[in-house]
Amino acid sequence: MSTPAARFDRGHTDDLIPFLASSPSPYHAVANAAERLEKVGFQQVEETSAWEGTSGGKYVLRGGAIIAWYVPEGAAAHTPFRIVGAHTDSPNLRVKPLPDTGSAGWRQVAVEIYGGPLLNSWLDRDLGLAGRLTLRDGSTRLVNVDRALLRVPQLAIHLDRTVSSDGLKLDKQRHLQPIWGLGDSREGDLIRFLEEEYDLPTGEVAGWDLMTHSIEPPAYLGRDKELLAGPRMDNLLSVHAGTAALAAVATDGGDLPYIPVLAAFDHEENGSQSDTGADGPLLGSVLERSVFARGGSYEDKARAFAGTVCLSSDTGHAVHPNYTERHDPTHHPRADGGPILKVNVNNRYATDGSGRAVFASACEKAGVPFQSFVSNNAMPCGTTIGPITAARHGIKTVDVGVAILSMHSARELCGAADPYLLANALAAFLEG
Ligand code: ZN
Repeated sequence: MSTPAARFDRGHTDDLIPFLASSPSPYHAVANAAERLEKVGFQQVEETSAWEGTSGGKYVLRGGAIIAWYVPEGAAAHTPFRIVGAHTDSPNLRVKPLPDTGSAGWRQVAVEIYGGPLLNSWLDRDLGLAGRLTLRDGSTRLVNVDRALLRVPQLAIHLDRTVSSDGLKLDKQRHLQPIWGLGDSREGDLIRFLEEEYDLPTGEVAGWDLMTHSIEPPAYLGRDKELLAGPRMDNLLSVHAGTAALAAVATDGGDLPYIPVLAAFDHEENGSQSDTGADGPLLGSVLERSVFARGGSYEDKARAFAGTVCLSSDTGHAVHPNYTERHDPTHHPRADGGPILKVNVNNRYATDGSGRAVFASACEKAGVPFQSFVSNNAMPCGTTIGPITAARHGIKTVDVGVAILSMHSARELCGAADPYLLANALAAFLEG
């Protein structure tokens, strides 16, 4: 059995690059997580089938969410869970129901704004199109046109003389519609284009969930390549680390005192209220069914949940060198300083003193330093799935993550060591 501290190194961050690049939508992210777990023996279970109480790795996929867990040999029905929670969605521009539009001889695609992106970061980027098509028979098909297909062109400075002095003002309806060619727009163009790209008969697509993404691949940055720039680090960085940690702990096996779980939800960026979001019943239902499938009673489920801990992992803010006054003056998380413990006494984060002790112990075991994050009192604090998970399931939850710059930009920035430091801490936590 390898020691936790030695588990992940820079190779983990190297592996994050293709994970980010090949996950332009939540549906792709969960497919990639599932593929990695299948490589170490995890098997998909269908929610519509009867479940068996066997040991080993299993996972449930629903839309843009995945719940994966590993039942050790000899686990009791009341064995508690150790959960790494994360989210698969990121702010972006998503295709409207009647997408074919245009103006002044340009063909355009009508988009809606998903979550809270830094809108300026979407301008003048070459964008691809990805997501999920639902066919007439109800089956779904992942699609990813990963080439320069669309672009939201910025207005020339000559036509916006005050942009540098007064700041950029974007009208969310008028100014963010991407162009994707020249000529007249005809209804059905965009979907017919995808049907052609994927060799589907005309009229085969009955529904779609499509979104744009920057096609620029992630890249190491900095004098010594000690930083990583890329899209969707919030929060695929945690999904990737959680997947790697669960796979490693399941592969090592041994006498695990807990059932390790990865719970990656969709829809965090707009409040988590969906059948695949953290504020839905998915996690509770999967954990409950796992207890009952192993012959457990309601009492066993209650015992298991009472002993369960969730580490909710999401990105936080590293101190920005040009805006240090926006951060708390004495809590200064920095890139490559190790994972952050996120605290907010008004429960925007679920961490309390006892949760801190759990995380500190995992980090100590993994040989990983950690840092504390708290907001400047004059700034509103963000939130994540942690408080929702704690309240919805009555599960003790600790909010942690990685400090990044440019959160919610189309291209974010983190330290290159932090992803593997986080993965080491998560693995040590899952292992108990
Ligand atoms: Zn996030």
